[in-house]
Amino acid sequence: MPYDIYVTKASLPPMEEYIEEVRSVWDTHWLTNMGEKHEQLQNMLKDYLDVDNIELLVNGHMALEMTLQAMNLQGEVITTPFTFASTTHAIVRNNLEPVFCDIDEQTYTMDVGKIESLITERTCAILPVHVYGNICNTEEIDRIAHKYGLKVVYDAAHAFGETYKGKSVGLYGDASCFSFHATKVYNTIEGGAVCYRREELGQKLYELKNFGIHGPEDVNAVGANAKMNEFCAAMGICNLRHVDEEITKRKKLYEHYMERLKDTAGLQLNWIQSDVRSNYAYFPVVFDETIFGVSRNEVYDYLAEAGIYTRKYFYPLTNTFACFENRYNVNDTPVARKVANRVLTLPLYPDLDVRDVDRICNLLLQCRFDKK
Ligand SMILES: *Cc1c(COP(=O)(O)O)cnc(C)c1O
Repeated sequence: MPYDIYVTKASLPPMEEYIEEVRSVWDTHWLTNMGEKHEQLQNMLKDYLDVDNIELLVNGHMALEMTLQAMNLQGEVITTPFTFASTTHAIVRNNLEPVFCDIDEQTYTMDVGKIESLITERTCAILPVHVYGNICNTEEIDRIAHKYGLKVVYDAAHAFGETYKGKSVGLYGDASCFSFHATKVYNTIEGGAVCYRREELGQKLYELKNFGIHGPEDVNAVGANAKMNEFCAAMGICNLRHVDEEITKRKKLYEHYMERLKDTAGLQLNWIQSDVRSNYAYFPVVFDETIFGVSRNEVYDYLAEAGIYTRKYFYPLTNTFACFENRYNVNDTPVARKVANRVLTLPLYPDLDVRDVDRICNLLLQCRFDKK
């Protein structure tokens, strides 16, 4: 019996809805360069995310990369290795130096108690990640940034639509970068956005995403091409109409997983933080082999044999990537190393059947007894 479940499945609106949405593009022939759909989506997201300032981009990676460029930074950026390649690459591609801070063992976000010891006179910014939608300790990060005069850019790729203490996650730090990639809670096929505090940063982002063009005869920055096109914006308009319903479906599945797994010793589950309205983006489980009896890699293989494809998010750590040729020492971030070696992200997407969650949990619990 073929039984293939992947860790996620991209959300799509009904096809007719999308066709209706893009129909006007055939009238205007305006396909990209901040057209009608782009402007409409930007306004819709401003409302939905409850922010004053937002700039749309071609993807979440360019949101990070262009934000760092727009800030004109030089020197070292304190960040986390427990993230997707994009976070670290955005730093390195700006000729900045990543300095890796360890993570908190419960939330997997940056361990704020370890930030200050990493600050040097070359430190210019902090780039934390709201990993799995777990919100960083923004109060402490703010305090440190203020004390040392550092910029704060959040990688909020996992935190679409979340609030912390009733306030939109897009309102923390100098800027928060979102990803609207196909695999995320909310997608525009490919896409991203930056929510920012100061007007000036928005103007720079607007120009940088269009080659640094300031006026018809004036190019005053070495920008790139990072604009969101009309077809992606139209997809975003459609998907935004359904995203609340999708998050509700995710919540039900999340709760079912929790119910099935919470009493098993040796599994660390990702509890929703108090004060956070979650988007239920991921279901990471950290396996303690000495208690659970089976390692993360064994569970991964066992599920894969049954046609269930989980992901080792986030393994390997970015500070161990081959492209960095041993420039960083993974022993500097022992908690991140430990979690990366033990974590597995289970399938979670809105039209996953609750019976599939049961089957996945049954297999996960059974594999302890089938160990060869
Ligand atoms: C997805 C992701 C990104 C990059 O977003 P893209 O839209 O794929 O470019 C950056 N950071 C994290 C943590 C992500 O998960």
